[in-house]
Amino acid sequence: MARVHHLNCGTMCPRGARMLAGEGGWLAEAHLVAHCLLIESGGSLTLVDTGFGLGDATDPGRLGQPFRALVRPRCDAAETASRQIEALGLDPADVRDIVVTHLDLDHAGGLGDFPQARVHAFAPELEAALHPSLRERARYVPAHWAHEPEWVRHTVEGDDWFGFESVRLLPDLDAEVALVPLLGHSAGHSGVAVGGGDGWLLHCGDAFFHRGQVATPPSCPPGLRAFQALNAHDGKARGANTERLRRLAAEHGGEVRLICSHDPVLLDRVTAPG
Ligand SMILES: [Zn+2]
Repeated sequence: MARVHHLNCGTMCPRGARMLAGEGGWLAEAHLVAHCLLIESGGSLTLVDTGFGLGDATDPGRLGQPFRALVRPRCDAAETASRQIEALGLDPADVRDIVVTHLDLDHAGGLGDFPQARVHAFAPELEAALHPSLRERARYVPAHWAHEPEWVRHTVEGDDWFGFESVRLLPDLDAEVALVPLLGHSAGHSGVAVGGGDGWLLHCGDAFFHRGQVATPPSCPPGLRAFQALNAHDGKARGANTERLRRLAAEHGGEVRLICSHDPVLLDRVTAPG
Protein backbone atom coordinates (compact mmCIF):
# COMPACT_ATOMS: atom_id res chain seq x y z
CA MET A 1 0.00 0.00 0.00
CA ALA A 2 1.21 3.47 -0.75
CA ARG A 3 2.56 5.62 2.05
CA VAL A 4 1.77 9.33 2.24
CA HIS A 5 4.18 11.75 3.91
CA HIS A 6 3.09 15.28 4.82
CA LEU A 7 5.83 17.87 4.31
CA ASN A 8 6.09 21.57 5.01
CA CYS A 9 8.10 22.85 2.05
CA GLY A 10 8.07 26.51 2.92
CA THR A 11 7.42 28.41 6.12
CA MET A 12 6.13 31.95 5.60
CA CYS A 13 6.03 34.55 8.37
CA PRO A 14 3.92 37.54 7.33
CA ARG A 15 3.35 40.22 9.95
CA GLY A 16 -0.14 40.53 11.40
CA ALA A 17 -0.82 37.39 13.40
CA ARG A 18 -4.06 38.79 14.86
CA MET A 19 -5.57 39.43 11.41
CA LEU A 20 -4.15 36.35 9.70
CA ALA A 21 -4.36 33.67 12.37
CA GLY A 22 -7.03 35.12 14.65
CA GLU A 23 -4.72 35.30 17.66
CA GLY A 24 -1.45 36.95 18.75
CA GLY A 25 -0.32 40.56 18.39
CA TRP A 26 -1.32 42.87 15.54
CA LEU A 27 2.27 43.05 14.29
CA ALA A 28 3.46 39.66 15.48
CA GLU A 29 4.61 37.13 12.89
CA ALA A 30 2.00 34.68 11.69
CA HIS A 31 3.17 31.25 10.73
CA LEU A 32 1.98 29.72 7.46
CA VAL A 33 3.20 26.49 5.90
CA ALA A 34 3.39 25.09 2.36
CA HIS A 35 1.80 21.70 2.92
CA CYS A 36 2.94 19.19 0.27
CA LEU A 37 2.42 15.44 -0.05
CA LEU A 38 4.99 12.80 -0.91
CA ILE A 39 3.41 9.52 -2.04
CA GLU A 40 5.70 6.53 -1.79
CA SER A 41 4.40 3.63 -3.90
CA GLY A 42 6.61 0.71 -4.83
CA GLY A 43 9.88 2.24 -5.99
CA SER A 44 8.38 5.46 -7.28
CA LEU A 45 7.73 8.78 -5.62
CA THR A 46 5.01 11.29 -6.44
CA LEU A 47 4.78 14.82 -5.09
CA VAL A 48 1.64 16.90 -4.69
CA ASP A 49 2.92 20.51 -4.93
CA THR A 50 6.53 21.47 -4.20
CA GLY A 51 6.49 24.65 -2.08
CA PHE A 52 9.75 26.56 -2.45
CA GLY A 53 12.82 24.92 -3.99
CA LEU A 54 16.59 24.97 -3.75
CA GLY A 55 16.67 27.67 -6.44
CA ASP A 56 14.52 29.91 -4.22
CA ALA A 57 16.82 29.24 -1.25
CA THR A 58 19.93 30.29 -3.19
CA ASP A 59 18.20 33.16 -5.02
CA PRO A 60 15.15 34.37 -3.04
CA GLY A 61 15.18 37.49 -5.23
CA ARG A 62 13.56 35.49 -8.03
CA LEU A 63 10.32 35.45 -6.02
CA GLY A 64 10.03 39.23 -6.40
CA GLN A 65 10.38 41.94 -3.78
CA PRO A 66 6.64 42.63 -3.15
CA PHE A 67 5.94 38.97 -2.35
CA ARG A 68 9.03 38.68 -0.15
CA ALA A 69 8.22 41.87 1.76
CA LEU A 70 4.59 40.94 2.37
CA VAL A 71 4.66 37.17 2.81
CA ARG A 72 8.22 36.85 4.18
CA PRO A 73 9.08 33.29 3.06
CA ARG A 74 11.92 31.72 5.00
CA CYS A 75 13.46 30.05 1.90
CA ASP A 76 15.37 27.53 3.99
CA ALA A 77 17.04 24.82 1.87
CA ALA A 78 16.35 22.25 4.61
CA GLU A 79 12.59 22.73 4.08
CA THR A 80 12.68 21.96 0.35
CA ALA A 81 11.02 18.75 -0.81
CA SER A 82 14.33 17.61 -2.27
CA ARG A 83 16.21 17.86 1.05
CA GLN A 84 13.33 16.33 3.02
CA ILE A 85 13.17 13.37 0.62
CA GLU A 86 16.89 12.82 1.23
CA ALA A 87 16.34 13.10 4.98
CA LEU A 88 13.76 10.29 4.71
CA GLY A 89 16.48 8.11 3.17
CA LEU A 90 14.88 8.32 -0.28
CA ASP A 91 16.27 9.53 -3.60
CA PRO A 92 14.87 12.74 -5.17
CA ALA A 93 15.70 11.19 -8.58
CA ASP A 94 12.89 8.66 -7.94
CA VAL A 95 10.25 11.42 -8.10
CA ARG A 96 8.60 10.47 -11.39
CA ASP A 97 5.45 12.56 -11.17
CA ILE A 98 4.47 15.88 -9.62
CA VAL A 99 0.82 16.88 -9.42
CA VAL A 100 0.26 20.59 -8.85
CA THR A 101 -2.81 22.19 -7.32
CA HIS A 102 -1.74 25.29 -9.25
CA LEU A 103 1.48 26.99 -10.32
CA ASP A 104 1.67 30.01 -7.99
CA LEU A 105 5.20 30.83 -6.86
CA ASP A 106 4.76 29.27 -3.40
CA HIS A 107 3.65 25.93 -4.91
CA ALA A 108 5.89 25.49 -7.96
CA GLY A 109 9.25 26.60 -6.55
CA GLY A 110 10.62 23.08 -6.23
CA LEU A 111 9.77 21.85 -9.76
CA GLY A 112 13.32 22.48 -10.94
CA ASP A 113 14.74 20.16 -8.25
CA PHE A 114 13.08 17.23 -10.06
CA PRO A 115 13.92 17.81 -13.73
CA GLN A 116 13.13 14.18 -14.59
CA ALA A 117 9.54 14.34 -13.26
CA ARG A 118 6.41 14.71 -15.36
CA VAL A 119 4.34 17.64 -14.10
CA HIS A 120 0.58 17.13 -14.10
CA ALA A 121 -1.63 20.20 -14.16
CA PHE A 122 -5.17 21.15 -15.08
CA ALA A 123 -5.04 22.61 -18.61
CA PRO A 124 -6.37 26.12 -17.79
CA GLU A 125 -3.73 26.50 -15.05
CA LEU A 126 -0.91 25.58 -17.40
CA GLU A 127 -2.28 27.98 -19.99
CA ALA A 128 -2.46 30.84 -17.44
CA ALA A 129 1.02 30.17 -16.05
CA LEU A 130 2.78 29.83 -19.39
CA HIS A 131 0.95 32.79 -20.96
CA PRO A 132 0.00 35.03 -18.00
CA SER A 133 -2.08 38.15 -18.41
CA LEU A 134 -0.55 41.39 -17.18
CA ARG A 135 -2.58 41.12 -13.95
CA GLU A 136 -1.43 37.56 -13.27
CA ARG A 137 2.24 38.01 -14.05
CA ALA A 138 3.16 38.55 -10.38
CA ARG A 139 1.80 35.20 -9.23
CA TYR A 140 3.89 33.02 -11.57
CA VAL A 141 7.71 32.83 -11.73
CA PRO A 142 8.88 31.52 -15.15
CA ALA A 143 12.26 30.57 -13.58
CA HIS A 144 10.36 27.78 -11.80
CA TRP A 145 9.91 25.96 -15.13
CA ALA A 146 13.00 27.21 -16.97
CA HIS A 147 14.17 23.56 -17.06
CA GLU A 148 11.25 22.86 -19.43
CA PRO A 149 9.58 19.99 -17.59
CA GLU A 150 7.49 17.39 -19.36
CA TRP A 151 4.07 18.90 -18.75
CA VAL A 152 1.01 16.63 -18.69
CA ARG A 153 -2.01 18.75 -19.46
CA HIS A 154 -5.29 17.39 -18.10
CA THR A 155 -8.85 18.21 -19.02
CA VAL A 156 -11.93 17.10 -17.15
CA GLU A 157 -13.52 13.94 -18.43
CA GLY A 158 -16.42 14.07 -16.00
CA ASP A 159 -15.38 11.34 -13.56
CA ASP A 160 -17.55 11.85 -10.54
CA TRP A 161 -15.82 12.14 -7.16
CA PHE A 162 -18.30 12.86 -4.34
CA GLY A 163 -20.23 15.01 -6.83
CA PHE A 164 -17.13 16.88 -8.07
CA GLU A 165 -15.72 16.54 -11.57
CA SER A 166 -12.36 14.84 -11.50
CA VAL A 167 -9.61 13.32 -13.61
CA ARG A 168 -8.01 10.08 -12.50
CA LEU A 169 -4.19 10.18 -12.71
CA LEU A 170 -1.34 7.69 -12.33
CA PRO A 171 -3.20 4.36 -12.55
CA ASP A 172 0.05 2.46 -11.86
CA LEU A 173 0.31 3.61 -8.23
CA ASP A 174 -0.94 1.67 -5.19
CA ALA A 175 -3.04 4.72 -4.33
CA GLU A 176 -5.80 6.46 -6.21
CA VAL A 177 -4.83 9.97 -7.29
CA ALA A 178 -7.30 12.33 -8.94
CA LEU A 179 -7.25 15.97 -9.93
CA VAL A 180 -10.42 17.70 -8.72
CA PRO A 181 -10.87 21.16 -10.31
CA LEU A 182 -11.68 23.80 -7.67
CA LEU A 183 -11.45 26.96 -9.73
CA GLY A 184 -11.32 30.48 -8.38
CA HIS A 185 -8.05 31.12 -6.58
CA SER A 186 -6.23 30.81 -9.90
CA ALA A 187 -7.41 30.11 -13.45
CA GLY A 188 -7.05 26.33 -13.25
CA HIS A 189 -6.74 25.75 -9.53
CA SER A 190 -7.50 22.14 -8.53
CA GLY A 191 -7.58 19.92 -5.50
CA VAL A 192 -5.79 16.59 -5.48
CA ALA A 193 -7.59 13.58 -4.01
CA VAL A 194 -5.51 10.70 -2.70
CA GLY A 195 -7.29 7.48 -1.80
CA GLY A 196 -5.82 4.68 0.20
CA GLY A 197 -6.86 2.00 2.65
CA ASP A 198 -8.33 4.40 5.22
CA GLY A 199 -10.42 6.72 3.08
CA TRP A 200 -9.66 9.82 1.07
CA LEU A 201 -7.42 12.79 1.64
CA LEU A 202 -8.31 15.89 -0.39
CA HIS A 203 -5.48 18.38 -0.72
CA CYS A 204 -7.45 21.55 -1.43
CA GLY A 205 -4.40 23.73 -2.21
CA ASP A 206 -5.44 27.36 -1.86
CA ALA A 207 -9.20 26.73 -2.28
CA PHE A 208 -9.29 27.70 1.39
CA PHE A 209 -6.59 29.08 3.71
CA HIS A 210 -8.04 28.48 7.17
CA ARG A 211 -9.67 25.37 8.63
CA GLY A 212 -12.63 27.47 9.82
CA GLN A 213 -13.70 28.10 6.22
CA VAL A 214 -14.80 24.47 5.78
CA ALA A 215 -16.24 24.13 9.29
CA THR A 216 -19.94 24.56 10.05
CA PRO A 217 -20.67 27.38 10.71
CA PRO A 218 -17.78 28.77 8.63
CA SER A 219 -15.32 31.38 9.92
CA CYS A 220 -12.05 32.98 8.83
CA PRO A 221 -9.69 35.56 10.34
CA PRO A 222 -10.39 38.87 8.51
CA GLY A 223 -6.84 39.37 7.19
CA LEU A 224 -6.81 35.97 5.55
CA ARG A 225 -10.26 36.59 4.09
CA ALA A 226 -9.04 39.86 2.54
CA PHE A 227 -5.86 38.24 1.24
CA GLN A 228 -7.83 35.50 -0.51
CA ALA A 229 -10.27 37.96 -2.05
CA LEU A 230 -7.40 40.11 -3.31
CA ASN A 231 -5.59 37.18 -4.90
CA ALA A 232 -8.58 35.48 -6.47
CA HIS A 233 -8.68 34.99 -10.22
CA ASP A 234 -12.47 34.56 -9.97
CA GLY A 235 -13.91 35.50 -6.58
CA LYS A 236 -17.38 34.13 -7.29
CA ALA A 237 -16.12 30.70 -8.33
CA ARG A 238 -13.76 30.66 -5.35
CA GLY A 239 -16.59 31.36 -2.90
CA ALA A 240 -18.84 28.73 -4.48
CA ASN A 241 -16.11 26.10 -4.29
CA THR A 242 -15.29 26.87 -0.66
CA GLU A 243 -18.97 26.36 0.11
CA ARG A 244 -18.98 23.02 -1.77
CA LEU A 245 -15.97 21.94 0.28
CA ARG A 246 -17.71 22.94 3.51
CA ARG A 247 -20.68 20.78 2.54
CA LEU A 248 -18.38 17.90 1.56
CA ALA A 249 -16.74 18.08 5.01
CA ALA A 250 -20.13 18.24 6.74
CA GLU A 251 -21.64 15.32 4.81
CA HIS A 252 -18.63 13.07 4.24
CA GLY A 253 -16.20 14.05 7.01
CA GLY A 254 -15.85 10.40 7.97
CA GLU A 255 -14.65 9.37 4.51
CA VAL A 256 -12.75 12.43 3.29
CA ARG A 257 -10.17 14.42 5.18
CA LEU A 258 -9.67 17.97 3.88
CA ILE A 259 -6.30 19.69 4.08
CA CYS A 260 -5.10 22.92 2.49
CA SER A 261 -1.70 24.37 1.68
CA HIS A 262 -1.15 27.07 4.26
CA ASP A 263 -2.93 26.24 7.54
CA PRO A 264 -0.26 25.07 10.03
CA VAL A 265 -2.87 23.59 12.37
CA LEU A 266 -4.17 21.21 9.68
CA LEU A 267 -0.60 20.09 9.01
CA ASP A 268 0.01 19.53 12.74
CA ARG A 269 -3.18 17.49 12.99
CA VAL A 270 -2.21 15.04 10.26
CA THR A 271 1.38 14.68 11.46
CA ALA A 272 0.60 14.41 15.19
CA PRO A 273 1.56 11.00 16.57
CA GLY A 274 -1.38 8.70 17.20
ZN1 LIG B 1 -0.41 29.43 -1.92
